Amino acid sequence: MPARLLDTLPPMGAEGIQQFSRFIDDASSILVFTGAGISTASGIPDYRGPEGVWATRRPVVYNDFMASASARAEYWRQKLEDREAFGAAEPNAVHRAIVRLERSGKVDLVVTQNVDGLHAEAGTSAERLVEVHGTNRLVQCQTCGARSDPAPHFAMFAESGEAPRCGCGGLLKPATISFGQQLRAEDITRAFEAAQTSDLVVALGSTLAVTPAADIPMAAARRGAPYVIVNQGRTEHDGSPFVTLRIEGDVSLIFPAAVDMALADGPMDPGAGGPTGGYPRETDPSI
Ligand SMILES: [Zn+2]
Repeated sequence: MPARLLDTLPPMGAEGIQQFSRFIDDASSILVFTGAGISTASGIPDYRGPEGVWATRRPVVYNDFMASASARAEYWRQKLEDREAFGAAEPNAVHRAIVRLERSGKVDLVVTQNVDGLHAEAGTSAERLVEVHGTNRLVQCQTCGARSDPAPHFAMFAESGEAPRCGCGGLLKPATISFGQQLRAEDITRAFEAAQTSDLVVALGSTLAVTPAADIPMAAARRGAPYVIVNQGRTEHDGSPFVTLRIEGDVSLIFPAAVDMALADGPMDPGAGGPTGGYPRETDPSI
């Protein structure tokens, strides 16, 4: 697949992937930052896009959730709708490539803006993962902090139409960060600590428009780590002097190809030979 991809991409695309793979090959402590664009290949739409859900749905802000039973019921109704639509989504080639990169020992931390839980499901280990905007794969009590499996709570809500409560009496909410809700301080600390030590930072499938999350990769770049951005469409960091390599295009094709190229045995060895540096390459006679 990656070999054929090299032959079918426009020259700049193939060259970009090769450059990207060299950065990965040279790095030993990578900060991976991901956004909604990496989950679209799993069938999860980008909520913030023009066709996104926030174009038609009014978000429930955190204070309203805490104060009003009807706001809580509306919030759970929206979450139930999403769960029915996307709850069965599976990790895709980007999530799996990040896991391969971790197993090679090159990943310092994966920081995601996504709440779909697909990094964890793909196999990214908990100590290497920060979900800055939380996760839909857990429900959290807003009083005692206890976290639990969402399934029984959704079943109860579907039956009663009332937002579920914890055994302690507290309000239960999917463990995502709502509009108007504070990020978890320990998550932000871990992410910015990784930005201080990583020797490569990559931003995948994010428009880098939502702060403070988008400040995390930029902090690593400002410190001097090479900064590679792969996204379809413009990002807020385009044109910044701190961006080392900007690849425009489908991250689900580009990133796995770059990882495979970097992790393949020998291709980056000097003198491995051939125009692709020894990378196995199919020849398509039609081109
Ligand atoms: Zn509780």
